Amino acid sequence: MPCALLAQGISYRVRAGGAGDRTFHVHAEFPVRAGQDTLLISLPVWSPGSYEIMDYARYVHTFSASAPDGRPLFWDKRDPSTWRIATGAAGRVSVDFETDPDSVALELSRIEPGFAYFNGTNLFPYPNGVGFDFPADVVLDVPGDWRIATGLTPAPGGERGHYRAASYHDLVDCPTFLGHFAFDSVMVDGRPVRLAVYPDSALTPAVWDSVSEALRRIAAAEDRIMGGEPDSGYTVLIYADPEALDWAGGLEHHNSQLDAIAMEFLAPDRKRGVLGEFTRPLLAHEFFHLWNVKRIRPAAMWPYDYAHAQPTPLLWWSEGVTDYYADVALARGGLWDQDQFVAAAAENVQQVEGAAEIVSVEDASVDTWIHPTWVDEAQYYYPKGSLLGLMLDIEIRSATGGRRSLDDVMRSLLADFWLRGRGFTTADLLERIRGWYPGVDDFYGRYIRGREPLPYDSVLPLAGIAVERHENRVPIVGVSTDRTEGGGVLVGTVVPGSLADEVGMAAGDVLLRVGDVETATPLWPLAFQSRYARAEGQPIAVTFRHAGRIVTRTGAVQVRTLRSVALRRDPHAGPAAAAILAGIAGR
Ligand SMILES: [Zn+2]
Repeated sequence: MPCALLAQGISYRVRAGGAGDRTFHVHAEFPVRAGQDTLLISLPVWSPGSYEIMDYARYVHTFSASAPDGRPLFWDKRDPSTWRIATGAAGRVSVDFETDPDSVALELSRIEPGFAYFNGTNLFPYPNGVGFDFPADVVLDVPGDWRIATGLTPAPGGERGHYRAASYHDLVDCPTFLGHFAFDSVMVDGRPVRLAVYPDSALTPAVWDSVSEALRRIAAAEDRIMGGEPDSGYTVLIYADPEALDWAGGLEHHNSQLDAIAMEFLAPDRKRGVLGEFTRPLLAHEFFHLWNVKRIRPAAMWPYDYAHAQPTPLLWWSEGVTDYYADVALARGGLWDQDQFVAAAAENVQQVEGAAEIVSVEDASVDTWIHPTWVDEAQYYYPKGSLLGLMLDIEIRSATGGRRSLDDVMRSLLADFWLRGRGFTTADLLERIRGWYPGVDDFYGRYIRGREPLPYDSVLPLAGIAVERHENRVPIVGVSTDRTEGGGVLVGTVVPGSLADEVGMAAGDVLLRVGDVETATPLWPLAFQSRYARAEGQPIAVTFRHAGRIVTRTGAVQVRTLRSVALRRDPHAGPAAAAILAGIAGR
């Protein structure tokens, strides 16, 4: 059924949920100016927050275009994401298509029996050449017993499922749950924080208690940091399919977040009665994006461009420092004590120090769009950016005697950029920090833009965090393995110059025994390490299956030195240092 909801605006209708139907049916109507003989409409190639080209047009099929009188209009593709429609002097053009990304991914869309979720970037084409500030109406046409959870604003006086967005940006920034799921809310600082969980069986009373308590404390702590809530409501959408997921992740939006969380991470820890340790930091991280990135946004993404990648060197700030504030909010909200806060920083140190090489977080931010294969840069700027946030916070607090903090930097970015309708640059950021921490340019050159090892030892003790460096002597065989096979482990790659290389092992061999240690049990590396840590250079027999034959050859034990950095709260820290940690992570 065509809809003419708004005489001059753009309107969309999405139909989903018919019996046995696993497709989104999209209908869109576009006004045409007098004399305009061609209408170009495009689907986005990416979703803000998910820095990856996805080409949502690839899922579209059965595309058609028509005039108001039902006359079909000629169309072809101008580029992979753009349809070129001959208007035939019609005053409005309707298009219809089906799309079924059908994936449990945070930037895609999915339909299951009785449930669907979508991201607007997947479904809503935009007209070219008119900007993105046009208002849009959308009707969600679903079975009468289906629920709808979305950050979209209901149209005044509209029918059920009728929403109105002030701009295309708002329209596509509201992921939506449709169907049967659990839906409830808590009030925080005078606005509802809504929680939708699919499947509804995942929201047991224990999960509700722990999630709602976590949301209440996180939202209140982050509102306090930023000086108040930025919107009149917030929606948390959690997809917790036990069959499809063994991971947890989230994607931020301007008044909502969409999370996919393995059921086991959602369930409260039986011993401690709290959410799985992945879930609270995830909720806090996505919630803080409400300010940092959705509003305090790098200039390279202002405004969003849905047709092209928008690389920025600032994701270490937008993602990593958001991760820092997730930890800060958990501590200030009373969900963590200071030791847990320090332990989270220590985990970040482990990740950064465990990377194959030191990468500049600016380079990693830019490179995330191409998913480099040689180092996991896509994740690198989270832990390193979080530690940079911690260190900048400590330096500012230390230099100002505790009168200023990174919170002030965040609030000043909000006031000077978001509230004035623009994005910020690295120069803008450094300028705001410099007034309180004059050493920031040197810090930036060495650790943010540069590739020097992070200065844990000189900075963290200023906040009463002790830094311990350890060296472990670890014997190494020199093979990568990912599965067992025939009583041993299948060899993936062999490290050149290693023991495995010395005895002539190759990819595809099956390692059966190293010295006294059988490899049939998954814990064999631990047994090997404890048995041979002090046997460097001694002869060792290695038994493996090679080309169908079992061979035993002798090589020499190789031992490597692994360095690690550990952090702990120093109970004997002086009052100034203890006050800095209390300022960051105290209640
Ligand atoms: Zn994030």
